[in-house]
Amino acid sequence: MCYKAISRTKSPIFGIPKKKNHMNIHEYQAKGILSGFGVTVQRGKVVDKLEDAVTAAKELNAETGTEWFVVKAQIHAGGRGKGTVEETGSHGVVLAKGLDKVEDTVKGILGGHLETAQTNGVGKLVSKVLICEDVYYPGEAETEEFYMSVLMNRATGKNMIMYSTEGGMDIESVAENTPELIFHEEIDPGLGLQGFQARKIAFNLGLSGAAFKDMTKFVAALYKSYVNSDSSMFEINPVLKTSDNRILAVDAKVTIDDNALYRHPDYAAMRDESEEDPTEVEAGKVGLSYVKLDGNVGCMVNGAGLAMATMDMIKLLGFEPANFLDVGGTADAARVEQAFRIILKDPNVKAILVNIFGGIVRCDRVAQGVVDAYKNMGEINVPIIVRLQGTNAVEAKKIIDESGLKVMSAIALKEAAEKVQQALS
Ligand code: GDP
Ligand code: MN
Repeated sequence: MCYKAISRTKSPIFGIPKKKNHMNIHEYQAKGILSGFGVTVQRGKVVDKLEDAVTAAKELNAETGTEWFVVKAQIHAGGRGKGTVEETGSHGVVLAKGLDKVEDTVKGILGGHLETAQTNGVGKLVSKVLICEDVYYPGEAETEEFYMSVLMNRATGKNMIMYSTEGGMDIESVAENTPELIFHEEIDPGLGLQGFQARKIAFNLGLSGAAFKDMTKFVAALYKSYVNSDSSMFEINPVLKTSDNRILAVDAKVTIDDNALYRHPDYAAMRDESEEDPTEVEAGKVGLSYVKLDGNVGCMVNGAGLAMATMDMIKLLGFEPANFLDVGGTADAARVEQAFRIILKDPNVKAILVNIFGGIVRCDRVAQGVVDAYKNMGEINVPIIVRLQGTNAVEAKKIIDESGLKVMSAIALKEAAEKVQQALS
């Protein structure tokens, strides 16, 4: 059973099926949110044109005096520093020593496709780059990279700050090889972060003096922004201690709980649909709860629970569902047609199982909807098995059987299952 679909499709509060619970945003947007709550971040300017990159660097130079810059690809994936731009071989995070190097560096990244350990083998188009001041400048003290994340610990019902001295690198391997180097601080959401907790974090990170003090402020601001932005996760890797003992966020991954987006229209506007599955985006626009999966049996179901059960049944037969799709309460012809079109966008689909329970919606109306949608769409090249149960199920079966279309009908679930099996073998 696909538990990924469960967690991604059910609202934890009202049980209303939702497409997803989380919205990812770009680093530059995340840094904007954090800095709005007083978190110190590496300064930068986002651009989407080569010409603007040099201007941005000049402005940064005027503001901070920096001569060195770092150019950072903006995609919804981490590991950019070690990733490679397919077209040019450049990495996704590159230091540019001097103003004149900025243009060449941006040329190697902007408009290319960046492949990282997190992009599942397909390079992601880089349509924006962030031009930042270099914050790893030499000075009195060593720079140090830490790891810090804020998330909810569902087991204890508390918020949690996870942090480590081993920042900058792949935190998963730190967790695996040296788990003792990862600390946890649990925060009671009713009490909020206490002063002693922020001090404990700074202490465990080995800080003293000005850096210690700055870290306690950083942690307090970070926690405040986590709570007030309705985020479900923050991951700041690295948090940097500069050579002059300041603490700042060099990278920022922010995931927002999209059930709370109605409270933050400015965050909702940050959604970058080009980073999401295009079919899921299209389904969302017409109000269908659709999650693409990897199998070959398309499912069209009403109700999230029945959709889960249908997916279970497909798995029990030894097949894999191609999607989760809840058409909701109004399974009329227009809606059924939208759902068919979305399911059929996936080339892996070899059969479609329509499993609808007619409670408020009558089965005969749904059957008519299926027939009308089918006729409207012309030839559909995959077998369709329609199982309608509930009010007027017998009439519905008759409508399907007498339609003359290549649609198989069933009333019992077992019968539907057998027909799916026949269709696929
Ligand atoms: P990620 O690879 O996608 O996680 O991107 P990051 O924003 O974490 O950047 C990757 C790495 O680039 C960081 O871990 C740093 O080591 C390095 N880096 C980032 N900003 C700077 C900078 O201002 N100067 C230098 N020298 N290195 C930087
Ligand atoms: Mn990072």
